[in-house]
Amino acid sequence: MKVTTQLRKSLDNFAKVNADVLQSNIAKLDKAFSNFFENGKGYPQFIKRLDSFEYKPGCVKLHDIRKNYATAYLPGIGAIKFHNSRDLSTIQDLRTCTIKREGGNWCISMLVNLTGSLPDIKPLEQCKSIVGIDVGINKLVALSDGSFMENKRPATNIRTARRLSMRQRAISRKQKGSLNRIKAIKRLAKQNHKLAQYRNGYSWQAASIIVKTADVIAREDLRIKNMIKRAKPKHDGKGGYKRNGASRKTGLNRVIADAGWSNIFNKIAWLALKAGKPVVEVPAKYSSLECPKCRHIDQKSREGEKYLCVACQYTAHADTKASRITARRVGLVFPNNDLTLPTDCGKVTLSRYQSLVIEAKNYALGAANRNIHCPTVGYLGDMAETLKESSSL
Ligand SMILES: [Zn+2]
Repeated sequence: MKVTTQLRKSLDNFAKVNADVLQSNIAKLDKAFSNFFENGKGYPQFIKRLDSFEYKPGCVKLHDIRKNYATAYLPGIGAIKFHNSRDLSTIQDLRTCTIKREGGNWCISMLVNLTGSLPDIKPLEQCKSIVGIDVGINKLVALSDGSFMENKRPATNIRTARRLSMRQRAISRKQKGSLNRIKAIKRLAKQNHKLAQYRNGYSWQAASIIVKTADVIAREDLRIKNMIKRAKPKHDGKGGYKRNGASRKTGLNRVIADAGWSNIFNKIAWLALKAGKPVVEVPAKYSSLECPKCRHIDQKSREGEKYLCVACQYTAHADTKASRITARRVGLVFPNNDLTLPTDCGKVTLSRYQSLVIEAKNYALGAANRNIHCPTVGYLGDMAETLKESSSL
């Protein structure tokens, strides 16, 4: 890029920075502006200080790889020793390297080519067990085998919530632009970084346990971004506002964000990919109300954490029940296996492959749903044609 050359000539400071780093930053700026002009995004903010930069493939060299540390040669900066979190000795092809600041520490993340080392994903027909998961607030994850994972609430438990609000208050009481304010901001950032790391580690543990449970992992297709939207204002018709429960909703949003559901989902997707296990996303509609035994849907069946089907007296913990419904909706059925799913008869067919998520549709499930009068037929809409086939089976 010519801009880079101009920059390097105009200012001494730029000449010291590696050309690739400058180029990637200019590319980022260019993307921000084209997003603004072409895609209707907001005007780019002025960034006073960059907290991350990246080197293009082939720039960074690793030397002196030991068990706990290694040295990276960063062009324009020099050799930097770093603590490595995993085995680096097998890396052959080092791609883009990103250096970023997190909570006062500098981290290096390396993109590595791993072609050939991932197993093929097992076809759904050959899988022998399935686990459905339901993420929630009281229990972080409920599994369809009846077990739970506790919600540790890293940032919203009483102790840390108090500490975070103290740190935030300390910032707002310092004079703007003062050194003390910067110090207070750093303190808060460090605290948040610590919590994020804790949440991350716990998510890995939870995801690992879930993936090891069964051959197929079923989860709900949640729109988490939509779930944590602000409460809508309610107008009272006189130019004022009615109570809309905004502060309660804000509190709930904070708890949902703290649980880190999508964090767990991403980790499950990766661990399942490494283990060659398919992850199936199913529609989430009425998963908390539908009975896994008789498919009856009734608001009255649910009472807090208890679930008692008004039609067939099936009882379970409400979250466990939701996870069983999730597992069921995949459409895989396994006879003589009480641990995973109750018996059903059905033909399993794959309809569509996506990159990580596989959607499976079961004709038998569709037929059953058609006979019971319930509003869940919405998500079975694609199967109108296949229903005819299944009724002749
Ligand atoms: Zn029932």
